[in-house]
Amino acid sequence: MPKKKLLQADYILAWNNGPEIISQGEIVIEDSNITYLGPRLEREEGDFEEIIKGRDNLIMPGFINAHTHAAMTLFRGYADDMSLMDWLNNKIWPAEAKLKKEDIYWGTLLAIAEMLRGGTTCFADMYFHMDEVARACQESGIRASLAQGLVGLDKIKGMAGLKEGVSLIRNWHNKGDGRITIMLGPHAPYTCPPDFLQEVLEKATALDVPIHIHLAETRDEVNECLEKYGKTPVELMKEIGLLDHRVLAAHCVHLTAKEIEILAEKKTAIAHNPGSNLKLGSGTAPVAKLLEKEAVVGLGTDSAASNNNLDMLEEMRLAALLPKGFLENPTIVPAEAAFKMATMNGAGALFLSNEIGTLKIGAKADLIMLNLNQPHFYPRHNLLAHLVYSARSSDINLVMVNGKILLSNGQLLTIDEERVFFETQLRATKLVS
Ligand SMILES: [Zn+2]
Repeated sequence: MPKKKLLQADYILAWNNGPEIISQGEIVIEDSNITYLGPRLEREEGDFEEIIKGRDNLIMPGFINAHTHAAMTLFRGYADDMSLMDWLNNKIWPAEAKLKKEDIYWGTLLAIAEMLRGGTTCFADMYFHMDEVARACQESGIRASLAQGLVGLDKIKGMAGLKEGVSLIRNWHNKGDGRITIMLGPHAPYTCPPDFLQEVLEKATALDVPIHIHLAETRDEVNECLEKYGKTPVELMKEIGLLDHRVLAAHCVHLTAKEIEILAEKKTAIAHNPGSNLKLGSGTAPVAKLLEKEAVVGLGTDSAASNNNLDMLEEMRLAALLPKGFLENPTIVPAEAAFKMATMNGAGALFLSNEIGTLKIGAKADLIMLNLNQPHFYPRHNLLAHLVYSARSSDINLVMVNGKILLSNGQLLTIDEERVFFETQLRATKLVS
């Protein structure tokens, strides 16, 4: 008999062509799936291995962080207030050159602890030593889509990296009870020339996995691309054929109207990272225009070295506020659009819409519960607006991924935080000394 859990809450945020609050609702979970969601029914308590009664609580889908580099938590606060290329060339890349496998493992666990506490149940990651990232995901119980970061400036090194990326697929795709999926991760057009991207595309097609890439992040990148190839980054990716594949493109800050059309038409998934773009002074992505064209836009934190946290509630609020202020228009990117970016659009961006992103029967039980019995949730005119504009990560008191509870009453159940703090402090200090 499958193991069943019963979750009751005063409010459940479901989706039916729009947000729908189910009052006094309940969810039944069997193994990893939601098998009932709706009003409370007569139940035999003995049928359940676990019953959680969330009085004054709200259950919603977990957040999906569509772009990060988890282990870069090790560089949080190490190099701030610098331009992207100065930051990469003079601080981050030299420190990263010293990273060992174990550092990546512990840095990733630190990121996962932070993400779970912030209600993130799934993330897309691009880095290296990705076996260690996969191991941290497998042990902690979080869901993730992982990609080995590939740099193709040197063809021989690039092809060796691609081989590692392929072996990551062979070793980890659909592992961890299906929680772990793999993409191929060419870093960016400025680190991966067209012929190398062709090689990556061929492999991704043959192995049927998506591609995760940085695209049009800075004005300098666009100018360099125009100079070298006579095309903008998105046009270049289109010409190579990359956009005919399933692609998750991070940033997409500097886009022409034509590029916005291309991304929408090709259904290229976009990870919008407002916090990182602001901090690195990269600019502001044309999110309102992308959404208007019905592009798939998820939300990411980017790394903790350029944000400097992995808090999706904060990112969701920024995604709603930034375009309003920037364009002097309070009606664009309303709360509902920002919420969708952080949840169901994120699932779309990771090509996992069939499994996660909304709470519904048949979906994976990736959900979080927030305690609404707090000043900033009163009065309760509009709970969705409260989630976007008022909620804090400290409101989250339960996190479940794949039907398994990973955080309960402020305690992480699968991660030894004391040990993680100790290891990361020790290792991070060594890396930058
Ligand atoms: Zn990034």
